[in-house]
Amino acid sequence: MIKIGKTVLGGPKIALIAGPCAVESLEQTMQTAHFLQSQGVSVFRAGAFKPRTNPTSFQGLGEQGLEILARVKKETGLLICTEVMDARQIPAVSRVADLLQVGARNMQNYDLLRELGRQEKPVLLKNGLAATVDELIGAGEYVLQGGNTDLIYCLRGIRTFETRTRFAFDPALVEALKNETKRPVIVDPSHSAGRRDLVYPIARAAVAVGADGLLVEVHPDPTKAKSDAEQQLDFGGFERLLAELRPIAQAVGRTL
Ligand code: PEP
Ligand code: MN
Repeated sequence: MIKIGKTVLGGPKIALIAGPCAVESLEQTMQTAHFLQSQGVSVFRAGAFKPRTNPTSFQGLGEQGLEILARVKKETGLLICTEVMDARQIPAVSRVADLLQVGARNMQNYDLLRELGRQEKPVLLKNGLAATVDELIGAGEYVLQGGNTDLIYCLRGIRTFETRTRFAFDPALVEALKNETKRPVIVDPSHSAGRRDLVYPIARAAVAVGADGLLVEVHPDPTKAKSDAEQQLDFGGFERLLAELRPIAQAVGRTL
């Protein structure tokens, strides 16, 4: 069990970690944060530094994005999760983040992981694009070895030859990873699905198999999003998702 502020990961309540893929503007970020707060979300997640496939794509607002997240934190009191892509970014990101995200592309960036092991902030470690559970656990050991035991694993699917989903999520791995590591395991249905309509079934499956939390991308106007426009839910979509998840959570003895 890991406690971040009043939020417990690995307890009976399933943690909701949500927000837009990227901080795009103060207005877009603040509007989303206020909405998510009204829905019971405890951790607001948005990227200031974005790992993009092409260097010509939107790279995030960087330091300016962190400032916007600091304003969100001040105004709403929500916990903040944001990605750190490089060890050099740790001091700036740590000033605002309560939870440091390591993205799929950095799961095996061992220098970054070692440095995060020396921090006093919890780490959210996503599985690599083609990583096995053993490789994910091995990556996590780098953080743990440094003395930072506040480690949360995030399953976000892996690359297969299937194209309907962007990355395949295997529900059985939630149980395997929880049993083997005794640490909280959350699921990211958004990056696994890669498309809005498939976020729902993946999230339902994740809750049914005992995920300790969900990481969901939400944007006020997803079609205009500067990254991951295909998969982000709008506000109505997020409400619908929670309505679908509540009875499933209850059936497995959890709450949302
Ligand atoms: C993200 O969380 O926005 C992201 C880029 O995810 P991943 O590292 O899982 O691809
Ligand atoms: Mn994204």
